[in-house]
Amino acid sequence: MSKVYKRHCDRCGNYYEGSGRKYCSTKCYGKGKPTETFEEAKERFLSKVPKGVSKEECWNWQAGKSQGYGTMTYQGKTQYAHRLSYSFFKGKVPSDLDVCHSCDNPVCVNPNHLFLGTHQDNMKDRDRKGRNRWTKQRRKIMFAKGYFHTAKLRADDVINIRREREKWGTSYSDLAQKYNTTVSNIQHIINRETWKHI
Ligand SMILES: [Zn+2]
Ligand SMILES: [Zn+2]
Repeated sequence: MSKVYKRHCDRCGNYYEGSGRKYCSTKCYGKGKPTETFEEAKERFLSKVPKGVSKEECWNWQAGKSQGYGTMTYQGKTQYAHRLSYSFFKGKVPSDLDVCHSCDNPVCVNPNHLFLGTHQDNMKDRDRKGRNRWTKQRRKIMFAKGYFHTAKLRADDVINIRREREKWGTSYSDLAQKYNTTVSNIQHIINRETWKHI
């Protein structure tokens, strides 16, 4: 009885259990000795991860990036590092599935932060987590850069703001948008902390 190997194929990196000592299939065997084995590729991958990071924290990719994601050349192709991470440490990534980040950090390649999802799941997930956070962050930066110069309000604006709020219950943020000012300004006006004299 021949020995059953339980390992990753030196050529394609897929996990297999079979009689092949180095390769999963005759197809991979037929391609001859690879320039880099699966284990070597894994080593190379780990050399691009910050040293001494724990299993819990994000492993921020230290090498090439594309569209915010880490990349690494593997088997002659530039591939996403987080997808490689999943295949190196967790298992095969079906080509029709996305590797998603539970930490919402695209440059992270910590396999513990990665899960498989459909493309739709990923987009939904990104919408739910990413967009709101991104907008908040962007607003902060824009504020810092002085993009939100608020208009000087006039007395009649103040009267109108209070009137609208009272009559229609218009939200602070809608009022802020309409009168080109901040929500806190609106709040102060309505609470009569500013413009007390009218
Ligand atoms: Zn193979
Ligand atoms: Zn992470």
